[in-house]
Amino acid sequence: MKLHEHQGKELFRRSGIPTPRGEHVRTAQAVRDYIEVNPGSWVLKSQVLMGGRGKAGGIKFADDAAAGEALANELIGKILRGVQNPEGERVESLLVEEKVQIESEAYVSITIDRARKCPVIIASAQGGMDVEEVAANDPDAIAKYWVDAATGYWPFMGRRLAFAAGLPTGYHKAFPAIVGGLYTLFMQYGANLVEINPLVLTKDGRVIASDAKVELDDNGLFRHPTLREWNIEAPSDEDQAAALATGLGRSNYAKLGGAVGVIANGAGLGMGTMDAIRNAGGEAANFLDIGGGAQADLVRKSYALVVSDPKVRSIFINIFGGITRGDQVANGIVEALKGGGLREVPLVVRLTGTNEKEGRAILAAAGMNPVETMDEGARRAVEFAGAAGRGNN
Ligand code: GDP
Ligand code: MN
Repeated sequence: MKLHEHQGKELFRRSGIPTPRGEHVRTAQAVRDYIEVNPGSWVLKSQVLMGGRGKAGGIKFADDAAAGEALANELIGKILRGVQNPEGERVESLLVEEKVQIESEAYVSITIDRARKCPVIIASAQGGMDVEEVAANDPDAIAKYWVDAATGYWPFMGRRLAFAAGLPTGYHKAFPAIVGGLYTLFMQYGANLVEINPLVLTKDGRVIASDAKVELDDNGLFRHPTLREWNIEAPSDEDQAAALATGLGRSNYAKLGGAVGVIANGAGLGMGTMDAIRNAGGEAANFLDIGGGAQADLVRKSYALVVSDPKVRSIFINIFGGITRGDQVANGIVEALKGGGLREVPLVVRLTGTNEKEGRAILAAAGMNPVETMDEGARRAVEFAGAAGRGNN
């Protein structure tokens, strides 16, 4: 999950990283109102997820409320395009921020070095809009420090980086604490990337994060339920939008066009289930990976998503339990589907794992069709799809 700049800066503030004062707004009128109450020089920053907004014309400067309103009218609704995003992204909101007098622009980020299996802090004195070229043409201008996650970050690392990257002395005092805040954020929120570009040294000697790029690991989001509400990352197609609305990961659902709906736990099992359906002479209506466990709420929502496709005439739920208890999974499925209100199609459930027999008994008692093997399940689901209306409804 990528965060917008204003969201990233909210996390920066929580982690003690200084940011310019400002306000996140959705209308030109709000820009006008804000600048009227807070006269001065302001930057209007388009809140889009693509990088390179400056070059794409998404950053504007306003010295009074009228100019702010006019520029906001230009920006809001505009499609920004850049080298990193040729398709473009629509500007829905702006960050109005104090314009700072820039003495120097540095770069600092933390990401995971997958080869070394540890976080790496990257710093450069040549931050700003051309940092990609710096990395390509002048790799010596980029300094790195690999952190042992067991001992964590210590301020000497920041000092060492400041010298290695050749940061102007104006940065030296503040830099180790800023990197410390960034490291805390990185670990606490389970980020894949945190980046400040530019980290600005102002003419009056302050060091502040002028931009914020934060990418969180979706697998860690459950630890931060409030951040889930920030998951506004533009879905790139209808399937992704449906998956996200259902509470699934963005790549956990795809519509395919056949008549047999699929709900499986695990991407591999989902693909195997589709193959089994094809071997049985049918076509899968969709791919759906419900993930680990099989909580009632998610089962119900996934079922609703699958039957929302009018072509679906049967559903094959294929749950590989492993150590998950089959009776719990079965109860979850029964619980999920009992409330009614959903289009009913014949359901075949294959359940394996601990207590699988008990699980199948529970499913049978609820009128679902428990099976033992994937091939048997696929065969029955294909049969049901070929004779919709027969079966358990
Ligand atoms: P990006 O292009 O998407 O990375 O957006 P940034 O937030 O990094 O802004 C791009 C550029 O706009 C920066 O590198 C600065 O040169 C300029 N800029 C942004 N905010 C300010 C500001 O407060 N004062 C000044 N003078 N320039 C700014
Ligand atoms: Mn930037």
